[in-house]
Amino acid sequence: MAMVRVAGVHKSYGRGATAVHALRGVSFEVAPGELVALKGRSGSGKTTLLNLVGGLDTPDRGRVEVDGRRLAELGENELLRLRRDRIGFVFQSFGLIPILTAAENVGVPLRLRRTDPRERDERVGLLLSLVGLAPHAAQRPGELSGGQQQRVAVARALANRPALLIADEPTGQLDAETAHSVMRLLHGVVHTDSPEPRPCALVATHDPTLLDLADRVLELRDGTLVTP
Ligand code: ADP
Ligand code: MG
Repeated sequence: MAMVRVAGVHKSYGRGATAVHALRGVSFEVAPGELVALKGRSGSGKTTLLNLVGGLDTPDRGRVEVDGRRLAELGENELLRLRRDRIGFVFQSFGLIPILTAAENVGVPLRLRRTDPRERDERVGLLLSLVGLAPHAAQRPGELSGGQQQRVAVARALANRPALLIADEPTGQLDAETAHSVMRLLHGVVHTDSPEPRPCALVATHDPTLLDLADRVLELRDGTLVTP
C-alpha cells in the first residue's frame, strides 16, 4: 500500500484575476521505504505540495492520503495526531528553538507525546548519535553550524519514528559539502539496515547529490508534474 497517495490535486491562492494556480492536477504515490525527490524551479509549487501532503494546508480539489487515511476526512485532533505521530518535517530554515539545547530540541516531539523521561533521554541520545552530534548535545542552535543545526532538525523529525519524512529544501541554506552530508544522512535514514522502522521520504531539493541518491525524481513545472 502506498504511504502517500495524491490524486488530482489543485490549489490556488487568492481569487479572481489575481489568483495564483499553484497546483493544477497533481497525482503521484510514494511507497513505504522510498526516497522521492521533488524538483522544480522556484514558484513551481513544491512547498504548496509538501504542505498539502503534510496536512498543513488543504487542497481545493483532489485527494491526499497518508498512511491509508484521507486527510480531508480527519477531524482536527486526528489530523494533529497524524502529523505528530506519523510525519516528520524538516524545513529549509531548520526551525529549531533557540533557547533549547540540541538534545532538548530533539526531545520536543517526545515531550508532546508525554514519553517517559528516561525513555526520552535514551531516544534523544540515540538520535543525536545517529546524526553524528552526540558531543554537541548541550549546545544551543546558535552555537552550532548550519549543517549541524539541520542534523539536529533531522533527528527531531525522526524522534517519533515517523512513517513519512517531509523535507522542504533542507539544504537550501547550506554550502555544497555540508549539503552533501545532510543528504547522505537523509538517504541513510531511509535506506538503513537498522531495526528502526524505515520511513519513506519526500524531499524538495535542487541538490544534485540527493537527485542522484533518490529512488525517484518528480519534477514540477508551473504546478503540474512533468512526465519523464
Ligand atoms: P516553490 O516551493 O516551488 O518555490 P510554492 O509552492 O512556494 O513554490 O509557490 C507556488 C506558487 O504559489 C508561486 O507562484 C507562489 O508565489 C504562490 N504562493 C505560494 N504561497 C502563497 C501564498 N500563501 N499566497 C499567495 N500565493 C502563494
Ligand atoms: Mg518552496
